Amino acid sequence: MSFQSLGLSTELLRAVSAQNYDTPTPIQRQTIPVILAGRDVLAVAQTGTGKTAGFALPLIQRLTANVRGPGPRIIRALILTPTRELAAQVDQSVIDCARYLPIKTAAIYGGVSIRPQIADLRKGVDIVIATPGRLLDHASQRTIDLSHVEVLVLDEADRMLDMGFIRDIKKIIAMLPKARQNLLFSATFNKETTELAGRLLQAPAKIEVAGTHKTADTIAQTIYPVDRARKRELLSWLIGSENWRQVLVFTRTKHAANRLATQLVKDGLNASAIHGNKSQGARSRALREFKNGQIRVLVATDIAARGLDIDQLPHVVNFDMPHVAEDYVHRVGRTGRAGNEGEAVSLVSAEENPLLAAVERLLKRTLPRKAVTGFGAGAPTASRDDSRRDRNGRADDGHAKDRANRMKYATVPTVATPASQKKTNQPNRRKRRKRSNATSGAEFTTVNDNSPRRGAPSRETPSKRQRYRQGQAAAGRPPRPAGTRG
Ligand code: AMP
Repeated sequence: MSFQSLGLSTELLRAVSAQNYDTPTPIQRQTIPVILAGRDVLAVAQTGTGKTAGFALPLIQRLTANVRGPGPRIIRALILTPTRELAAQVDQSVIDCARYLPIKTAAIYGGVSIRPQIADLRKGVDIVIATPGRLLDHASQRTIDLSHVEVLVLDEADRMLDMGFIRDIKKIIAMLPKARQNLLFSATFNKETTELAGRLLQAPAKIEVAGTHKTADTIAQTIYPVDRARKRELLSWLIGSENWRQVLVFTRTKHAANRLATQLVKDGLNASAIHGNKSQGARSRALREFKNGQIRVLVATDIAARGLDIDQLPHVVNFDMPHVAEDYVHRVGRTGRAGNEGEAVSLVSAEENPLLAAVERLLKRTLPRKAVTGFGAGAPTASRDDSRRDRNGRADDGHAKDRANRMKYATVPTVATPASQKKTNQPNRRKRRKRSNATSGAEFTTVNDNSPRRGAPSRETPSKRQRYRQGQAAAGRPPRPAGTRG
């Protein structure tokens, strides 16, 4: 199917080809005709599917087909997004789609001065892309008139509700004319989103692109079992030894994002954090520098990273496993976009095993594990089918690349098979050292002082903490909650 067959105008087709879009994505194939027909839409779609152009193209076409008489521009379409970054990104997509048409947009979000936004709104715009809070600021200052809105788009509705915007959304909806087209896009559906959809939409076309709970096949996903306290060292080592140039790292909290970025900088990596407590200037700068390669590691919380479209991002790391399994799909979906290859790595401590299990249930598959010797205390248990199989049915332990790396980085920690796959007749440490020398470090390696193993408890002599944990486990007590100290 081509864009031509979807009924788009010549100007929009030119804009599509100027962006090098050859064929419509599945969501675009479904949304464009129904939006053009004026229907409400309920779409289950996440970022990375091309959903923005999926609503922007037909929305623009409807506005331009229905030209208003002379007079100042009025706001005819309102797009609400949960985050400032997404608002800026959607604004850019709309501008790109409308480049050959006389359409004006304004991006309205907080964290920046309200004055230029007021000036833009005064000059007149056709489409406003806004976050709810700043939009209400404008409404209370009477610097925006929403009484002529013909189309309302709620983008990432689930995230807006997660962020507590429901009351703001209701207030905004109350300012709009009753007769309008409503388009609701959400990556997930729960009670709240379904309720909102029920209240907002009239006989909507329901659109779901197959595999919303799937990660792209082009993304290689790996689980690294690791002691919680050693995640940062493992991350630094992976970035350095694998020579990752652009890595988006997810943490669960803003505080953790800040701390990790600071530690990575101390490790000599160019890193920055992006989250809701940073000023908009700092957020925009970090994102810009990450996109243009000045920053190598961007540490982000889910909300800040939601919807970020970073062209050809090669690596995503879950430093913490997400509490909500669907967030894993969103995080990992930052890489492997538009058919590109990507790599997603999750550093999973023993405490996070239940979160990993939830992700695997959602994906309906077991993700391959790699254990790096010296980091793997409390490794997650390998579930059902831990090994991949090659074409001949032989088990592929997923370590071929690691073996090659061990040859390359003969003085870094060895990558070991998970405990479940490990042979019991391991030579003792002294023998391994000897063998290492005999084999030029190809199979068993010693560890130099710069490696992250420095100061690590040896596997043969468990640390005080490990002994405590083992004692707890033996006594059948649950592990101590994360973050507490004895
Ligand atoms: P979105 O899901 O809207 O955030 O879009 C994800 C990425 O896909 C953006 O970089 C878009 O520019 C790109 N994109 C959207 N539609 C197409 C298409 N038909 N062909 C190729 N890339 C597209």
